[in-house]
Amino acid sequence: MDNNNINKKVIKCILIGDFSVGKTSIYKRQFYNSFQGNYTQIGADLKTKIVQIEDKSIIFQFFEGCSYYRKHIFENIIYKQVDVFVVVYDITNRETFESVFQLCQDYSKKSTQDPVFIIAGSKQDLYDERQISYQEGSELAKSLGFAFFEISAKTGYQVEELFEYLIKYMINLDKY
Ligand code: GDP
Ligand code: MG
Repeated sequence: MDNNNINKKVIKCILIGDFSVGKTSIYKRQFYNSFQGNYTQIGADLKTKIVQIEDKSIIFQFFEGCSYYRKHIFENIIYKQVDVFVVVYDITNRETFESVFQLCQDYSKKSTQDPVFIIAGSKQDLYDERQISYQEGSELAKSLGFAFFEISAKTGYQVEELFEYLIKYMINLDKY
């Protein structure tokens, strides 16, 4: 192994969740600081953030773009090696909340490592139409032992906070 690589660690992160919960929107808010009404499901994207700690480089890779026809590629190659899953549901759609538990189980099994999960209730700006209370979301996360955020890609509410938490949490994990 190249000596330069000894102190490098790559952490792969991805947003998962039912169709239309806002995964692409959250990604665009965080990495492009933009929000549009609609995103087509083509193209993939990867953003990298490098955190230097003493002599160590921790490289965070954030993936996006699970277009339908590429889904199997993501599932077979990328998902297996993911370190952090941000599991998103839409606070105005109970069905998407009910998928969360199963998604955590499925992706936990698919993974070749022991991934970290963070639960995110999206579209917090639509609180008038909410079907899931903050408390219900946070209780589910607590019961699974995962962190919880309510966020809005539209207003930006808590989006940066979630990603900051993710990075800090991973940096502080013993294994890195
Ligand atoms: P994905 O299928 O999970 O990637 O979801 P998208 O990011 O494509 O978003 C699906 C729909 O929800 C789009 O019409 C978005 O404009 C809308 N949406 C996403 N995030 C928000 C949000 O924070 N607030 C509101 N009001 N709408 C959102
Ligand atoms: Mg999308």
